[in-house]
Amino acid sequence: MKKILSVFLCIVIAICTTIPCFAQDEKCNCGEPPIIYVAALGSGSVIRDAGTENETKLFRPETGEVVKQFLPLVPAVAKLLADKNYDDFGDVLIDCVNKVFGDLTLDGNGNSKPNVTSEEFHPESADHGLDHSYYFGYDFRLDPVENAQKLHTYIEEVKEITHHDTVRFRASSMGGVVAMSYLKLYGSADIETVIFQCCPLQGTAVAGELYNGKLEINKDALLRYGSQALPALDNDPVAGLLYILIEALEVAGVWDMLLGVADDLIANLQDRIYDETLIPIFSTLPGIWSFVPDEYYESAKEYMKLDENTQSGLISKLDFYHYEVQSKAENILKTTKNTGTTVYILCGYNMQRTPLVTAYKETSDGTVDTKYASCGATCAPIGETLPADYQCKDERYLSADRMIDASTCILPENTWFVKDMLHCKVHDGHMELYNWMFNSDEQMTVFDNEKYPQFLQNDVVNEQLTPVKNYENNVQRMWDIVKNSTSFYNILKFLFTVIKSYLVFA
Ligand SMILES: [Zn+2]
Repeated sequence: MKKILSVFLCIVIAICTTIPCFAQDEKCNCGEPPIIYVAALGSGSVIRDAGTENETKLFRPETGEVVKQFLPLVPAVAKLLADKNYDDFGDVLIDCVNKVFGDLTLDGNGNSKPNVTSEEFHPESADHGLDHSYYFGYDFRLDPVENAQKLHTYIEEVKEITHHDTVRFRASSMGGVVAMSYLKLYGSADIETVIFQCCPLQGTAVAGELYNGKLEINKDALLRYGSQALPALDNDPVAGLLYILIEALEVAGVWDMLLGVADDLIANLQDRIYDETLIPIFSTLPGIWSFVPDEYYESAKEYMKLDENTQSGLISKLDFYHYEVQSKAENILKTTKNTGTTVYILCGYNMQRTPLVTAYKETSDGTVDTKYASCGATCAPIGETLPADYQCKDERYLSADRMIDASTCILPENTWFVKDMLHCKVHDGHMELYNWMFNSDEQMTVFDNEKYPQFLQNDVVNEQLTPVKNYENNVQRMWDIVKNSTSFYNILKFLFTVIKSYLVFA
């Protein structure tokens, strides 16, 4: 009996150990290499004292926690308005910021404190295809090159679990920085397709200017920034009401008053805020440094007071990303494309960028400047068109609204622009475009599909992308938008556009 049992067990063990071997040799022939979504900033939580009773999520902190930590600001603001004592207010503000973000600080080599860690990502199921992408997240603070090494491990795991030799990327925002670092380190042999969606491939002006202390609050920019974020609330009546509120407070002069206070704050507290909180915390994060565009980079290192003696390890990480990845974008993208990987870049335009810096006039998706996300487009300032005497190298790449000239891009044929698209806010219309890109074995261009020319209008209400048109004036444009995508918010926006243009002409 024992003998029969042991023979039986031997057979079972033999089957168990050989089946995975057979399976591993067999490749999946579904024709759909797995898609890895290389996610944006904040995709991997940063945790203090993980696994202990003191476990705290440092990023992104829970809203309740932030409110609790910033509660002391309420009486401080009241006191400031009464006594104009900026230093007292500064004490409270700096203390709040340091409590919430202080533990994110990295050491002189760009490494985290031992008790501050980030969640790890591993593929969990073998399901793959257009409808099922793998999610790769990471610690946004760290060197993108280190995160690219983790992405490499993740790719190996995905290949093994799905029995594919190659994968496809959809990189979103900061994910593009990590994907570019990956391509620099490992090449593109394992990557069939890369889609870059709203990525700061050449940085973003808000980082460059913040790291150079170039702060400026512009009222018009601030109001545009506020109202353009409203449709993202996904609550049309609330968005509409807030829109009316923003316009009403403008008429009442409330914004002018508040901006006066904000300007005074900057004038009185900028040095202290940099020295006591921004520099000690944010100058130590290579992830954020990867957003600094080339024209701001060396002066930012000086302004943020990087110390070559105590931070040499950190500085060499920053320099490697900046000079070997960001500054070599052209070489990396062209090599990737020339070795048979299909490459697509998509960026938004005509949105107001973060209104706290002097570069508030750059057209953008609200976060990343179009010229940097597109790797080189020539763009008119927000709300304007390129000058009448502007010489375009190749008219085929000029947008119908004359806001963008894509002929100056690194990959002009493979770069798409979505008007009125907010940073990384995608809907079914985008996914359809991405699926067309993913499904094409050959490299597609902006001339290959009538449905998807280079310049597309974002229609959030109907979740579609349509070719950009030219309009005589703003009223005509808003009318076209409101009659096709009717929402309370769009109707109000149309009415205010009519009123404002009447006031201009009256
Ligand atoms: Zn497959």
